[in-house]
Amino acid sequence: MRKLWTPLLCILACGGEEPAASDGTSTGSTATTTTSGTAATTTEGPTTPTSTSTTAPEPLTTTSTTAPEPLTTTSSTSTTDGSTTADTTTGVQECVGELPAHWIDGTDCGSETQVQIHQYSADTWILRQSLCTSFEGPFMMLLFGSERALLLDTGDGDIPIDDIVHDLVDDWSQAHGGAPIELIVGNTHAHGDHVAGNNSFVGDAGTTIIGIGEAAVRQFFGIDGWPEQIVQYDLGGRVLDIVPLPGHEKAHIAVYDPATGVVFTGDTLYPGRLYIADFPTYVASVGRLVDHLADKEVCRVLGAHIEMTNTPGEDFDFMQPSHPDEHPLELDLAHLIELRDAVEAMQEPMIEVHDDFIVYPL
Ligand SMILES: [Zn+2]
Repeated sequence: MRKLWTPLLCILACGGEEPAASDGTSTGSTATTTTSGTAATTTEGPTTPTSTSTTAPEPLTTTSTTAPEPLTTTSSTSTTDGSTTADTTTGVQECVGELPAHWIDGTDCGSETQVQIHQYSADTWILRQSLCTSFEGPFMMLLFGSERALLLDTGDGDIPIDDIVHDLVDDWSQAHGGAPIELIVGNTHAHGDHVAGNNSFVGDAGTTIIGIGEAAVRQFFGIDGWPEQIVQYDLGGRVLDIVPLPGHEKAHIAVYDPATGVVFTGDTLYPGRLYIADFPTYVASVGRLVDHLADKEVCRVLGAHIEMTNTPGEDFDFMQPSHPDEHPLELDLAHLIELRDAVEAMQEPMIEVHDDFIVYPL
C-alpha cells in the first residue's frame, strides 16, 4: 500500500502514472495471442515521493467479516512448463514457484540485507526491500522471457535496485547462452514507494523504462480502451495479461502470468490495508479482474506489501518499522473474490476488517 496520505495527495496533484508488467518465464506454455508492447520508451521520473505527513486518517466505520468459503477453482494439471497442478476437489493448486520460509522483516537491521533476492521459479524473481530502509517494505518482481525481462516496481528508494537487477539480468543471460536480454522497467502503479528507483535505470544499456502514469502505460502496452481493455505482452515465450486496475491509483495494473499461474496485484490486493482512492472505479476494476481470471488457472495472488500480522484481522501499526510475525505474502483467488464481494456489497465506502486484508477506502 501506500502511505495513507499519498493517494490523497495524488488525487489532488500526482497525475503520476505508471507502467506495469510481469513475468517472464520461458516456458512457452500457455501463450496464446501475443501482442503489443513494442516498447515505447521514455523515462519519466517518478513523482517525487511525498514524504511528509505521517498521520493516518481516522477510520470511519469498522466492521469485521468472516472469511468466505473456499473457492472451488477448477483447473487441471498443466505441467511441462511446470506451472500449476490443481486438485479439482479442493481447489487447492500446487504451484511450481516457491516462496521463502521467511522474508526480511526489519527485526534485525544490524544484519538484514537491503534487498532480499528470492528466486521464485526458473524465470521469476521476487525482491523485497528491507523495512530497515523503508517502512513500506515493498516487493518487486522480475520476470524473464527469452527476449526480455520485465521488472515490476523499483522500490521506495535508497537501495541499489539498478545494480541488483542488472546483475540478475546478466546472470540469467549467461545461463541462457549469453544472448542479450532487454530489461523493461515498469511499475504496478505510480506511487512513490513503487517507482522511486525508476530513475536509477535512466540511460542504462539495453534498458527501456515504460514511464509513470496512465498515458505511458497505455502507450507502451497498446491499450486503447483503458480501463476495460486487457492486452497481452510477450516477453518471448512468456505472454502476460496486462489488466488495467485503477482505483487505488489511476494508472494501476495487474499482471497475470499463465506460465506460473500468478496474478500480481500490486497495492490493489495484498495482506494489508487496501487503500482505495476512487471507490467506484476500484470496485469495477476488481470485478473485471475476477471475471478475467474466471477461466484461468490461478496459483497465487501476490501483492506488493505485507501489513497484516499472523493474527487474523490484525495489522501492524501504520509506519511500523519492523514486522515481527508477519502474514505470508501470498494470497489466492479466493481472497480476490472475497474482496470483490465485499466491496460490491458495500452501500457506501467503509473500512472493513477481514482475516487477511482490510478494505480501507480513503
Ligand atoms: Zn505501495
